[in-house]
Amino acid sequence: MAARLAFVSVVVPVYNERESVRPLSEELLRVLRGLGRRTEVLFVDDGSTDGTSEILADLAASEPEIAVVRLRRNFGKAAALMAGFREARGDAIVTIDGDLQDDPAEIPRLLDELEAGADLVSGWKRDRQDAWSKRAASKVFNGVTGAMSGIGLHDLNCGFKAYRSEVVRSLALTGDQYRYIPVLAANEGFRVSELPVNHRQRPYGKSKYGLERYLRGFLDLLTILFVGRFRQRPMHLFGGIGMLFILVGVVICTYLAVLRLTGEGIGGRPLLLLGVLLIVVGVQLFTIGLVSEMIQRYHLRPQDEEARSRVERVIR
Ligand code: UDP
Ligand code: MG
Repeated sequence: MAARLAFVSVVVPVYNERESVRPLSEELLRVLRGLGRRTEVLFVDDGSTDGTSEILADLAASEPEIAVVRLRRNFGKAAALMAGFREARGDAIVTIDGDLQDDPAEIPRLLDELEAGADLVSGWKRDRQDAWSKRAASKVFNGVTGAMSGIGLHDLNCGFKAYRSEVVRSLALTGDQYRYIPVLAANEGFRVSELPVNHRQRPYGKSKYGLERYLRGFLDLLTILFVGRFRQRPMHLFGGIGMLFILVGVVICTYLAVLRLTGEGIGGRPLLLLGVLLIVVGVQLFTIGLVSEMIQRYHLRPQDEEARSRVERVIR
């Protein structure tokens, strides 16, 4: 049984949500004050330009639990979350979208799930209140990601999640990678679970994302799967493929050399081109592997910290 989470931080990324932030903060405070734990709410203002910032400043001034992290411009949700995680002091960290679609009343259940032993609990918008096109695209996204990463969640990209603080400290989100947080956490060996949560219509403003997100998302998935598997041994990937190429290239070129020595002309043969190309590309891949290994040696210190962050406990 895991220890009780005494201090809960709620991180809310917001970009131009001026109608939503006040009602959301009221809902949040009502729920948090009923928890009987120490709590804080961190709104991360991701470069809003619609007056959200002024409303947040008011809220921070009047409510002791509320703080605002203002980003210099709109950096995107991953950057907003990272900025919030940096400031969050809780043992448990809850992220919730700032558009009132997620229901703060679900927070106690998410925390219960953490205390029951999960390291990350991801919300599952089982009855999702969005356009059918978005729901369909999301089904495909979750299916592909699930199949490629081996993570069996219904709704990876739900903005409503609860984490043990170790999990957020181990995350290094860049670009749009917030979509894959459960994959990243599972890569690090954290226990990831899922909980159906109430989902509501967006009452104000509009979604910041269209369908193009799924295209970019696929590239992010490749990056994450590659990094998860080979970050600490890039040579096994690049060197492996490189050696295979070189080997096949050498066999081809040896065969052609024998032909040439027996007097046959080989200058016009497409096979020659293939053999040479395989060797050249193979050497390049091999070199990329070596350079990657050196880059990763260069980062030994952070890796030492990483090694520490992977340890759950030490028994003496
Ligand atoms: N958001 C943000 N920065 C951005 C885009 C969105 O902080 O560049 C916030 C947004 O204000 C909202 C949350 O991320 O609180 C989820 O965004 P949205 O509701 O537009 O996404 P959807 O629900 O359509 O997936
Ligand atoms: Mg939304």
